[in-house]
Amino acid sequence: MPTPKQMEKMAPGVRRIVHPKPGLAPDDDLPSEYWQALLDDPRAEARPASLSGGTLRLSQIPRHVLRVGCRRCARVVEIQKLDAARLYGPDALWKDVGQRLLDNTCTQRTGRYEEDGCWPVFE
Ligand SMILES: [Zn+2]
Repeated sequence: MPTPKQMEKMAPGVRRIVHPKPGLAPDDDLPSEYWQALLDDPRAEARPASLSGGTLRLSQIPRHVLRVGCRRCARVVEIQKLDAARLYGPDALWKDVGQRLLDNTCTQRTGRYEEDGCWPVFE
C-alpha cells in the first residue's frame, strides 16, 4: 500500500486518466470487431483530426443512435440520428449538435464565460 503522502503525489495523474463515464459503453449498433479494427489500425494516430468522431456530419455517421457525454457533469445524452437530422439538418456537424444538446441540459454553471457549459466527449 502506498503511504498517504505517496497517494497525494499520485492523485493528480490518476485523476487525469480516470474519467467518470457512466453509460459510455461501446455502441450496441456496431460489432466489437469494428472497434477493435479501429484500435488496431496502426494509422489511427496519424489520422487527421477532421476524421475524429465529433467532426463528422450527421449524414456521414454510420449509426442510428448518437451519443455524447459530458466530462464535467458525467451525463450522457442520446439522440436518434434521424431526429438530429430533422432538427439540425443532415449536414450539421455532430460536434455542434452534441454541444447544443449538452448545453440545453447542463447543470454545471459557473457564470464564467470560459468555464461555463459542458465539455463534450464524442463517440
Ligand atoms: Zn455538463
